[in-house]
Amino acid sequence: MQEETRLTVTSPLMPDLDEFHEMLQEIWKSRWITNNGTFHRQLEKELASYLKVPYLSLFTNGTLPLITAFQALRITGEVITTPYSFVATTHSLWWNGIKPVFVDIEESSCNMDPSMIEAAITPKTTAILPVHCYGFPCDVDAIKSIADKYGLKVIYDGAHAFGVEKNGDSVLNAGDLSTLSFHATKVYNTIEGGAIVMHDKETKKRIDYLKNFGFAGETEVVAPGINSKMDEIRSVYGILNLRLVDSAIASRRRVAERYRAVLKNVEGISLFEKFPGIKYNYSYFPIMVDSEKFGKTRDRLYEEMKEKNIYGRRYFYPLITHFSTYRSLESAKIDNLPNANRLANSVLCLPLHHSLSDNDVERVLSFFEKR
Ligand SMILES: *Cc1c(COP(=O)(O)O)cnc(C)c1O
Repeated sequence: MQEETRLTVTSPLMPDLDEFHEMLQEIWKSRWITNNGTFHRQLEKELASYLKVPYLSLFTNGTLPLITAFQALRITGEVITTPYSFVATTHSLWWNGIKPVFVDIEESSCNMDPSMIEAAITPKTTAILPVHCYGFPCDVDAIKSIADKYGLKVIYDGAHAFGVEKNGDSVLNAGDLSTLSFHATKVYNTIEGGAIVMHDKETKKRIDYLKNFGFAGETEVVAPGINSKMDEIRSVYGILNLRLVDSAIASRRRVAERYRAVLKNVEGISLFEKFPGIKYNYSYFPIMVDSEKFGKTRDRLYEEMKEKNIYGRRYFYPLITHFSTYRSLESAKIDNLPNANRLANSVLCLPLHHSLSDNDVERVLSFFEKR
């Protein structure tokens, strides 16, 4: 029975095994398996070109780029950020001894509300850390004008924004630095992996030192860097996956369009608006459940789907501000974050990936048929 197959919110994009094997043979021949090898350098170049960004430095996961970005820019004190994200966003501040200051999000995009930023600035504020949540671009112009006015740095967590463009320009070019995650659950993956996107060669050089213990040559260490070097095996995997990602995004788009066509007419379900001029990556398909109008709560829907082997995800529930590390901060109070709290309790992300069949999609949609 079709009903038995397990549908998950995501499924990793994986290269052809024969091609992977062929490239592994080259690595075996060269005996160069990590430390800025040929394939590492090739993947950095190919990614920068694919993403339309000037410079990029590969990392071994998507959390260390965030941690390193704050170190690279010597950020201290307080940083304004969003509670509506994966916990790694805020953890990167904690690892740098920086105090997170949470501001609310816009209901239309789930991104940091720029009109909330100014009131959160104190003499200790040094930077802003927004997230392009679900790959929906932040209001980068509004954020830039506030940052410029107060002399703040902007670091974007672009973990969801692989390939997202606005008017032909990558959203990863906004801000001082942007970070990416290439974790298995993301649109594009290197199993584990990530990157920092930067504007100039000097910054890339510094960040390349920082991800290699701070080594700037054989005997010189310029800073207390970390070890976050991407190895050759995952670089090869990444090179092959990059050749598949356009077609994976096209498949995701077809699924998203089918969902949208049906769900836009369902009482009690609201969707996030699509805006012209934006090239989306269809990384997630979040819906908002209005329990009164829909006739059941988001959590009830989530549980009923699970009983039928369909695993949606309640991204982002609980909010980061509900975890014990951050709960006691003044800015974490529910009164300060009404939109974030409401969305955390009403959003469900539906299965969305490149290998869903038409039948899978209809199985998901059957939960929204007229009852
Ligand atoms: C996945 C993710 C990260 C962390 O990436 P890892 O590669 O899992 O370390 C950071 N921020 C956001 C918003 C993410 O979704």
